[in-house]
Amino acid sequence: MKKILEIETKREISLEEDNQSFFWIKSEGEKKLATENLVPGNQVYREKLIVKKGVEYRLWDPFRSKLAAAIMNGLEEFPFRNKSTVLYLGVSTGTTVSHISDIVGPSGMIFGVEHASRVARDFLDRVASYRKNIIPILQDARKPKEYFSVFGKVDVVYVDIAQPDQTKIALDNCKMYLKNHGYFFLVIKTRSIDVTKSPRRIVEEEAEKIKGEFDILQIIDLHPYDKDHAIVIAKSLK
Ligand code: SAM
Repeated sequence: MKKILEIETKREISLEEDNQSFFWIKSEGEKKLATENLVPGNQVYREKLIVKKGVEYRLWDPFRSKLAAAIMNGLEEFPFRNKSTVLYLGVSTGTTVSHISDIVGPSGMIFGVEHASRVARDFLDRVASYRKNIIPILQDARKPKEYFSVFGKVDVVYVDIAQPDQTKIALDNCKMYLKNHGYFFLVIKTRSIDVTKSPRRIVEEEAEKIKGEFDILQIIDLHPYDKDHAIVIAKSLK
């Protein structure tokens, strides 16, 4: 296992250039991250749409999506692929989920959990209603037994709920829904858990809690795209 104390901040992009999950598109003189739009013509957060060789792409803004920020900062393993199944806790208005929906495609499936009804309505209107591969679940992530619409186990559990006890909530969800050797992405809000601790300490302590059940693959600081968050990427040991 990698030493968990190394929180990475590197800027180079190490994932394969052409992995078919996401793309690098030239726009305004720069190479920018993009996904192939599952719903051509449809924008989710006023992101730019670009057509190349008859295919429409949506630019994926790392300042708006922490998963995109992780890619920009050197994410090494990207388990979201065509046909993947994902349990996503804290979908909010669906910015990141919409790109995962592009990636997993029509044969993939995302179970998107959100407890705030106003936010969830926005998510339904702007994202889930256009995308058949998203099943919205208006539930509290603390009660995974009550997600009646999740069937089978998923390839990836992605957690971004900004709660002080989110690591425990995440582990309870993984126990119920993550496949053996599945991937786990945990977004840690370094300032919300305990204001008296340094961000590095907070991330280390949260990573420590999952160590018994997961191999920690990488911890990525999302600066400069997001100053208060890091992402822990882990793989289930069994
Ligand atoms: N992941 C989103 C994205 O990248 O577009 C942003 C997520 S936002 C930081 C956190 C979301 O988690 C909020 O919409 C909040 O309502 C939701 N949330 C917080 N606690 C929750 C819980 N216990 N169950 C379900 N959703 C929760």
